[in-house]
Amino acid sequence: MIDLIANFSYIVSAALFIYGLKMLGSPATARKGNILSSIGMLVAVVAALVSDGAAFEIIAGGIIIGAAIGLLAARLVAMTSMPEMVALFNGSGGAASLLVGWATLYQSTDAGISGFTAFTIALAILIGGLTFTGSLIAYGKLSEKLNSAAFVFSGQRLLNGLLLLAIAACVYRFCTDPAADSVYLYGLLGLALLLGIMAVIPIGGADMPVVISLLNSYSGIAACAAGFAINNNILIVAGSLVGASGIILTNIMCKAMNRSLANVLFSGFGAVKVGKAVEGEVKPVSVEDAYYILEAASNVCFVPGYGMAVAQAQHVVKELGHILEANGCEVSYAIHPVAGRMPGHMNVLLAEADVPYEQLVEMDDINPRIENVDVAIVIGANDVVNPSAREDEDSPIYGMPIINVDQARTVFVLKRSMASGFSGVDNPLFFGENTRMLFGDAKESISGVIGEFGS
Ligand code: NDP
Repeated sequence: MIDLIANFSYIVSAALFIYGLKMLGSPATARKGNILSSIGMLVAVVAALVSDGAAFEIIAGGIIIGAAIGLLAARLVAMTSMPEMVALFNGSGGAASLLVGWATLYQSTDAGISGFTAFTIALAILIGGLTFTGSLIAYGKLSEKLNSAAFVFSGQRLLNGLLLLAIAACVYRFCTDPAADSVYLYGLLGLALLLGIMAVIPIGGADMPVVISLLNSYSGIAACAAGFAINNNILIVAGSLVGASGIILTNIMCKAMNRSLANVLFSGFGAVKVGKAVEGEVKPVSVEDAYYILEAASNVCFVPGYGMAVAQAQHVVKELGHILEANGCEVSYAIHPVAGRMPGHMNVLLAEADVPYEQLVEMDDINPRIENVDVAIVIGANDVVNPSAREDEDSPIYGMPIINVDQARTVFVLKRSMASGFSGVDNPLFFGENTRMLFGDAKESISGVIGEFGS
């Protein structure tokens, strides 16, 4: 009877996970979706505890400590440090699956462990272990506690190949004779941890969001394997959902950058400067002149990028948007899918500044009407507005979809210098006939323009 109730509860929590995931698809419902999924997880945990007759005190202690750490992290971690925090969460998920798989060996009955269970334990340890160390390296690179450049050395691929062979041998030997004290189990554990490090060090810091999304998917697959090892249906379902959604997100990011996953993982992209050098006349604009042009504009579109996050300019951007609206101007915010350094980076920042969702426009919606925009204000964006992606077949970003700001009537580009963006490619937009460069920190420049409106 208890098993029946537990399985019914698992179905309820699986439904809550799926519905919650669906609600995460829109900023308006995302918060509710998150809460629904958390309730699903609580139902699953309680059902698992009741059906297994587990040691309540220890688990209740674990829940309290875990919840306290989660609450503290959510309160203390800045919005801009979210990617690092997600990396740590993924790593914890991987480590948890590794431990669950490992612990299964100590619960085996006299009948021993079947070949299938041994294989799922090996998978949980392998994928969980590499997710753990890979996520720690990703965290280190994103937080710049480690050098964020791609670390490549000769013979790296050969070494990785040998590592994979040794892992395959350990998995095979462990599965043929599974035991808690198997030397192959310890070998597999050590090699899995090493593989996580080796897989992530050759990838540059700016590509870490893609890696994190992939590791997120791995942590789900590891949880799924652990679910098979301990025969827990909801862990299998939850792990599959995380595994599948992580791989879909990875795919979306790669597509939006027009790069393959292999290119992200193995090319050391952005490390060297490539593409045609661009020359021409740059036309700087002063804050005062920018004000006169904006004062007369009736349609303004902000196009934020990574520099807006660096400058933390989202609040002043919103303030300027308000002033322009009060001046009778139509205001929108065009969001490129990979602007910034994590999926939804710009949406998160603009939501933090309370910019209304209705004013956010996706790239595919703004491009057909960009010619009607009087002033496109590019705030610390570079690659995602680079016309070379459309025009220069030799450019490494050729084919990447961009926001066509160069087709607006006037373009203001707010950045500190003529430096290139993440891809290391020059940007002909800065030399365009209709482009005016407003040099300086984006927050200071926009505050200056706001000051002009006030004076
Ligand atoms: P870019 O990295 O292309 O450009 C950012 C620009 O911001 C720089 O040119 C820099 O110029 C400027 N900047 C930096 N600090 C400031 C500041 N304080 N004030 C004003 N400007 C500043 O960013 P984009 O958002 O245009 O492009 C994102 C890139 O990241 C793409 O190549 C994308 O493929 C890649 N990427 C994105 C991922 C995602 O999930 N979003 C994942 C992986 C990669 P200057 O130094 O002169 O100020």
